Order: sequence, then structure tokens, then C-alpha cells
Amino acid sequence: MVERLNDIKQRARKVMPGGVSSPVRALNSVDGDPLFIEKSYETTLVDVEGQQYIDYCMSFGPLILGHSDQRVIKAVEKQIKNGLTYGTSSRIEVELAEKIIELHPSTDWIRFVNSGTEAVMSAIRLARGYTNRRYIVKFEGTYHGHADSMLVKAGSGLATIGLSSSAGVPSSVSSETLVLPLGDSDKLKALFEKFGEDIAAVIIEGVPANNGLLVQSSTFMHEIQSHCKEYGSMFILDEVITGFRIGLAGATGYYNLYPDIVTFGKIIGGGFPVGAYGGRADLMSYIAPLGPVYQAGTLSGNPVAMSAGLTTLEILSDQNGNVYRELDKKSEDYAKALDSIFADNSIQAGVVSLASILWIVFQENRTIFKPEQLGIDAQDKYKVFHKKLLKQGVYLPPSPFEVSFLSTAHSSKILNWTLDKISEVVTNL
Ligand SMILES: *Cc1c(COP(=O)(O)O)cnc(C)c1O
Repeated sequence: MVERLNDIKQRARKVMPGGVSSPVRALNSVDGDPLFIEKSYETTLVDVEGQQYIDYCMSFGPLILGHSDQRVIKAVEKQIKNGLTYGTSSRIEVELAEKIIELHPSTDWIRFVNSGTEAVMSAIRLARGYTNRRYIVKFEGTYHGHADSMLVKAGSGLATIGLSSSAGVPSSVSSETLVLPLGDSDKLKALFEKFGEDIAAVIIEGVPANNGLLVQSSTFMHEIQSHCKEYGSMFILDEVITGFRIGLAGATGYYNLYPDIVTFGKIIGGGFPVGAYGGRADLMSYIAPLGPVYQAGTLSGNPVAMSAGLTTLEILSDQNGNVYRELDKKSEDYAKALDSIFADNSIQAGVVSLASILWIVFQENRTIFKPEQLGIDAQDKYKVFHKKLLKQGVYLPPSPFEVSFLSTAHSSKILNWTLDKISEVVTNL
């Protein structure tokens, strides 16, 4: 049996870089090996050898209803019988667009794409096309997908011209991205004073959750918005994770913001590759075929993906937000229980959480606003923790900088079982 997993690992490494389709799946950050999963349901992943894991990564966010929610599967099956792709408009994409616009503030119109990366890439093009300006401002430690202009990290000092954090991104591209530290009001203000007239857009995650959970103050979020307004720059709120995760109104509602453009992904695809960007009608009318900003997609608005997304949002918006109240309460209790386990075992660790997003941090200082505040020692401890839990059948996100996601499928029975496993593991960390 053991051979089977190893066989597949080896075959994978012969045909795919690192044996994976996305780097973090290699589990390099936790000194592990890729998982090869053959089946999933509710909170369970089953690998090629039948080994089961309780999942706290949840495909990095989309699976707010758990794996293979039967209502979503049923909707998908129904759609599949009617066709996989039409290359035309369809009723189901109109319905998903209407649903997102109804539930999420500040979007009049939506354009569907196939990933969060595409949504961000297109939002940036739209911002530049609309403002006729060159610079995009992003923040250190935020992730907006892998488009060239977003794979940029900061140099030192005030918004130095961006240095790429990936090979293959020409300096002519990265130099158009300005990078600021998160939460630094003074630098933000100074940057606008210096470059404001040339800033097409500022982009920030609804709540930065790709480099730990770096919850920003409402004041800072509103400062970004007001500088953008003052200088006529577009405020892009990247809600690919936070959209329909921290409530129906996402971070837009949480902070009471009115971004010019919002990007979506993950949850709105219900487990399929979907992204979307939306905004004010006057702005969105710059997009082809109405306007000069070109953006297209062979499979965009794919009816199968739309049916999964629509069913997911229908379930989430049912019962007056009760789904979120229950999920958030369960997550809060779980985070508290984890904190107690760490405290009882005199381990310097705790959980930073917001709604059903949880970040486990192995150090005393957990009021973290910037990724570099997570020490090497904390990262090493997470590696050990991850490895030990994996052996016990618990799959945590495979990097000390990745957050855990809870879903409606995480029952109290499953959560308590997990807490027992964690109690066992921490006694000999
Ligand atoms: C996941 C993510 C993206 C990229 O989405 P993909 O579907 O992986 O391309 C962009 N922005 C944020 C905030 C994300 O979390």
C-alpha cells in the first residue's frame, strides 16, 4: 500500500514541477511531501491509500460549506445534464451576478473570470484604463494572485520602486508597482503627496490573510479610501478570501467601506475555478464590449461553476445570516479552546482569528500587523506541530503563514476530536 503513494509521488515529480500544480501544495514550508487526495466529503480528505485527514485548509478558502456539500453537488449534476459550456451568455450567470450584487455592497456590475488572479489583473487594467495613470500601490505581505505586477515586494524606505519577488517579472513591470508597509498611515500619506497624481489604484486585501492574518484597523482602511478619493485613484478591495467569508457583505461591510472595484474568487465558485470583479456602473462600463478596456475568457461565466457558486451563496444567504452567526461562534469557541490548550501546556502560542479564519501563531507576540513579525522560531514550531498533527490525521494549512478555515461542516464532534489530538501533540512539541 505504502508503495502506491510513493509511486504516485514519483510519477508526479516526473511530469510536474515539484509534483504539484501550485507551489504551497509541495508542503516545503512544513518540511513535508505533497498529499495525493482521491476523495473528499464534509471535513474529510481521503488520500490514495485510504488515509483520512480532517481538513482545516479547506482548499485555501472556497469550501465554506465543507467538501462536497450535497446541495452544491446536486445543482452541479443538474447543470451538467444541460451542458458543460455554451460559449454564450446563460441564465445561471445572470442569476449569480444578481445574487452577488444583491448581497454585497458597492458593486453595480460584475464581470466573471476564472480565478482570483484574473480578477485582480483585470481590476488593475480597468483602474489604469479609467484613470489613464501608471502606478499601482500594494502592501507588503498581501497576496493578490500571481499576475506580474502583483508579484512585487518592497525595498526599504518609503515606497521604493518595487523589486520583483519572482524571476521572470521584468523591472519595467515591477517598477510600476509601489509597495508600502501595512498599517503605516504616515508613509501612505507621504506616498500620495509624492505620486498621488500618477496613482491609478491602491489594492489591499479585505483583511490580509495570505501571510498570516494581519487584521488592519478600520482607521487605516478608511485612510486608504479617503486618499484615493482625494487624488482620484481607484480603491480596489481584494475580497477573494473575505468575500462571503467574513459575512455576506465581506470586508466592505465589515469596515463600512465603499471601494471603487471589488475582486472576488474562492467562495463564489463553490469549489470551481471562478473569479469576478465588480464596481460602479460608470467604471465597469469601461470594459469591453461597452468600453475600451479589453478583457475576455473562453470559459468565463461557465455554467457548471456558476451553478456551484449560486447554490453556495443561496445557502449562505438563507436564514438571515444565521449560517455566519453559527459558523463564527463555533470558530470563536474553537479558537478559545486552542488558546486554553496552549496555555495549560505553557506553550507560547495562540490563535489570531476573525470570523471563521484562524491563524495559529507560536510566539508570545500575537498582535501582528506585518508578516516579518512572525519569528523564525515560531515558524519552526509550526512545522513540528503540522507534522505531528498530520500523523494524527489532522491536516492544517501547509505553511506557518497560511490561515486555517472552518466550514459549516466542522461539527462540534469533529472539532472536539481535533482538540483532543492537539492536546496529545502539544505535550511533546
Ligand atoms: C487566493 C487569492 C487570490 C488569487 O486567487 P487564485 O484563484 O488563486 O488565482 C487573489 N487575492 C487574494 C486575496 C487571494 O486570497
